[in-house]
Amino acid sequence: MNRARNLGDPEGLPHPLTGRPFDSPVPPGTGWPEDPATPTTPAAASADQVRDLAGSASSLAEVNARVSVCRACPRLVDWRETVAHEKRRAFAEQPYWGRPVPSYGDESARVLVVGLAPAAHGGNRTGRMFTGDRSGDWLFAALHRAGYAERPASVMAGDGQRLTGLRMVAPVHCAPPDNKPTPAERATCGHWLDRELQLLTTVESILVLGSIGWQSLHAAATRIGWGVPRPRARFGHGVQTVFTVPGGDVSAGSAGSADRMVRVVGCYHVSQQNTFTGRLTEAMLDEVIALL
Ligand code: SF4
Repeated sequence: MNRARNLGDPEGLPHPLTGRPFDSPVPPGTGWPEDPATPTTPAAASADQVRDLAGSASSLAEVNARVSVCRACPRLVDWRETVAHEKRRAFAEQPYWGRPVPSYGDESARVLVVGLAPAAHGGNRTGRMFTGDRSGDWLFAALHRAGYAERPASVMAGDGQRLTGLRMVAPVHCAPPDNKPTPAERATCGHWLDRELQLLTTVESILVLGSIGWQSLHAAATRIGWGVPRPRARFGHGVQTVFTVPGGDVSAGSAGSADRMVRVVGCYHVSQQNTFTGRLTEAMLDEVIALL
């Protein structure tokens, strides 16, 4: 990939839905649909700053805003911004979001979906999780069949899509090279996931797509003091386990209440590798979603 281009070069390419021109990556607070940040949103530049900014975020909206401007992982910042400038030929005339992709969906969700990380030309282009690639097409179609998604497809931030009762989160918010974040990057981004789990006080079921998401969710739940069965259930399609959110945990929003039980269900990732080969079929996906 040619990295000689000055990443500060303005482009002014039109957003495919609104026609408004944007540079790639998109500067915060410049009018991109669903951009949660403003020009003054604090940006983390290290793992310690991620921990501090995540820990002090008082709402899911604040987490999303801070995530979307994060620069704590140099390798991923370089990759996501380089991809945003160089683009895939099919999207050469579009601006790319090129920033961390924030969580998406209902803030009062009963169901949480945990993925892995945005795709370089999917979420990293459109600014929305599971949007703009075939993996997302599969997932949103299934969520629409199950009544969680208003539309059968998610095209781009600003398309009118809406999730009800369900929210999507990612253990890693930046597109990684080869879809493989390093352990250090997963650990750094895990602070955002910790805070989201604490603030999502209505969640009763979690669908985890793939083994990395399974590991990341177990690690995050353990870090924030949730009860996680030992030995840990091994990831598999349709595998179920139950976490316990302790009552009286103020940070978990359950002060003075009884323990909250959260059912966790494993699902093969909706990657093309799985869906093209038939390892994951529409029927299999519908079956696990019906368990939530
Ligand atoms: S992967 Fe997470 S912690 Fe790292 S830069 Fe992106 S948003 Fe920040």
